[in-house]
Amino acid sequence: MTADSVRLVRVLLPLPLGRGYSYAVPDELRVSPGDFVSVPLGTRKVIGVVWDGEAEEVPAAKLKAIAGKLDCPPMVEATRRFVDWVASYAMAAPGSVLRMAMSVPEALAPPTPIRAFAALPSPPEIMMTPARQRVLDVLVGGPPRPASELAREAGVGVSVVKGLADAGLLISVDMAPPASFTPPDLDAPGPTLSSDQQTAADDLAAKATEGGYSVTVLEGVPGSGKTEVYIEAVRAALLAGKQALVLLPEIALGAQWLDRFRQRFGVLPAIWHSEVPMAQRRATWRAVATGEAQIVVGARSALFLPYQALGIIVVDEEHDASFKQDEGVIYNARDMAVVRAHLGEIPTVLVSATPSLETANNAETGRYGLHVLADRHGGAALPDIHVVDMRAEKMDSGNWLSPQLVKALGETFAAKEQALLYLNRRGYAPLTLCRACGHRLKCPSCTAWLVEHRLIDRLQCHHCGYSMAKPKACPECKVEDKLFACGPGVERLAEEVTRLFPEVTFTVAASDTIRSASEAQELVRRIEDREVDLIIGTQIVAKGYHFPYLTLVGVVDADLGLEGGDLRAAERTFQLLYQVAGRAGRAERPGRVFVQTFMPENKVMKALSVGDRAGFVAAEAEERRDHGMPPFGRLAGVILSSVDARAVDDAASALNRTAPRGQGMEILGPAQAPLAVLRGRHRRRFLVKADRNVNLQRRLADWIARTRVSDRVKVQLDIDPYSFL
Ligand code: ADP
Ligand code: ZN
Repeated sequence: MTADSVRLVRVLLPLPLGRGYSYAVPDELRVSPGDFVSVPLGTRKVIGVVWDGEAEEVPAAKLKAIAGKLDCPPMVEATRRFVDWVASYAMAAPGSVLRMAMSVPEALAPPTPIRAFAALPSPPEIMMTPARQRVLDVLVGGPPRPASELAREAGVGVSVVKGLADAGLLISVDMAPPASFTPPDLDAPGPTLSSDQQTAADDLAAKATEGGYSVTVLEGVPGSGKTEVYIEAVRAALLAGKQALVLLPEIALGAQWLDRFRQRFGVLPAIWHSEVPMAQRRATWRAVATGEAQIVVGARSALFLPYQALGIIVVDEEHDASFKQDEGVIYNARDMAVVRAHLGEIPTVLVSATPSLETANNAETGRYGLHVLADRHGGAALPDIHVVDMRAEKMDSGNWLSPQLVKALGETFAAKEQALLYLNRRGYAPLTLCRACGHRLKCPSCTAWLVEHRLIDRLQCHHCGYSMAKPKACPECKVEDKLFACGPGVERLAEEVTRLFPEVTFTVAASDTIRSASEAQELVRRIEDREVDLIIGTQIVAKGYHFPYLTLVGVVDADLGLEGGDLRAAERTFQLLYQVAGRAGRAERPGRVFVQTFMPENKVMKALSVGDRAGFVAAEAEERRDHGMPPFGRLAGVILSSVDARAVDDAASALNRTAPRGQGMEILGPAQAPLAVLRGRHRRRFLVKADRNVNLQRRLADWIARTRVSDRVKVQLDIDPYSFL
């Protein structure tokens, strides 16, 4: 066999290797780009996708042939282009991105058919029992049915059916398993929309109906009906025969959203996130590929599902930092949703009460469309926000709730209403200190303090998961009983609340107490049924909920997110506090919010107290523009890590010598990362700042390619970084 007498195709494999390999196509096989095929690689067989573009010539001796084609709908062109695009943007191997799009290899095989039975047209004469006769009677004129169903309908044991089949009196046929996704009911009426809502809904629905690329920002205060509006756009896409994707940041907590969806369309959507069990993942992946699953609600990875005909993408809470994936292939699902919409020529909707500066800027310059819902539905008033100056409050040591907030809590409970205490810190105390020698308990493999979790009685590292029992003696000076918990976490607030309001029922809601969708659902139910008076929670309770009796929100430490000098610290803190505040007073009951801070003069607190979101955003944008920061300039992080501190320092020096400074690019560093050691690996960082017109990826690739770095050092590139740790 010579290479030029055979047909060659390029096959991309879901592995971090090259750009795909050439394979010969056996004569009897028809393949086209997008087909899933099984190919030999070394001594094993792997599944890949026939990719577009010329296959490279391969010496005949090395050329291998495709082993077979899988019985699975091909990956559509938009998805293939998307895989290539993400790889080149994120500077990752295309195979690594393909792997995300093939996350459930089991789903590539069709589901096992169900054996069913039908009656023979002219059955031979055999011995008939009444039971056998009943089975045959049931089958007459009806469709084939599985043995168990047949037995049930005929009121006989399964063995009777089996006996008939063995005697050759039944024909066995293979039936496709029943559909696992019932189509949504698109005729069910929705709520009557307000005129602002209707305008936005009409525009989005028209875009979904017509198709074509567009990005529209749907901005509106919490409770203004954004969800109701985009559900109309989803409906329009489905009516046009397309699939819809709704991305949510923390899917496990979308319980209320899912319920609304069911109320509107009569069925639950397909759900996609890391905790979905394997069997369901498999069914979902396949149903998305066949087009049977029409609506997918999922976390960021849902973007990489093999849609047959995606017609709209909604990104709810588009400003949320959890859309950024910081490991493996580093990408921002919000940004990639826009790319996917572009490649698929479909509309996308970015939804938020507090759009990110990047998105707001795109709306302002007209690149994105914009709808603003200014009022809360039903005219519910936005809550009053009181900034509590903690410097002026008289606080006993070991207490974190100010007298003002305690008074408001008392009033709320007396009125039989609910309150939320928000503190974005899990556990009991963020730091344990020895009162004898001043030693602080630290993680052995990270630059991080150990956090005390009293509910499980452990000290834990929140970066690597290391944990230990709380020692009796200080590990440093060996003095006993002097270890002291510093600062509060949600568990410690619970203690304070119990002292202050012993009769009040409360629940602690953090990612370590609410671990699954069902636990989240149970939490929502308990709050809705008013089984709890008080919720003490981290950011998992900050978004998306409507609790009509929740009228008081206390932000215990508003300054928490402002430390660290992160580019988006102020923006993120504002967004979070604004969201949390939005939990108060959703229905006819007005809400109150108390924000405790030691920095009342900080711009975030000032803007919150006067309710000036627009002014805050404009000032932030101005500052970013002055400093050439995103979205007015580009950023990339270069993170070096190694178990060997020498090796990582050598690599940092080498990269520093070859750094492509100038021509619109500025390179800061190398510097020790704030998380200088993580899971035992030493870390150094560069921060690359570039003008908007610089081809950042090209320059970074050249830089890395011409620098010799020991293979003991891992080099990670983070385009558009959100974390600077
Ligand atoms: P957002 O997504 O902006 O926070 P939602 O869409 O969740 O707002 O709406 C807040 C609450 O108001 C929900 O309970 C929703 O069902 C209700 N709502 C919004 N618009 C309408 C409307 N036009 N008719 C009836 N109920 C509405
Ligand atoms: Zn650690």
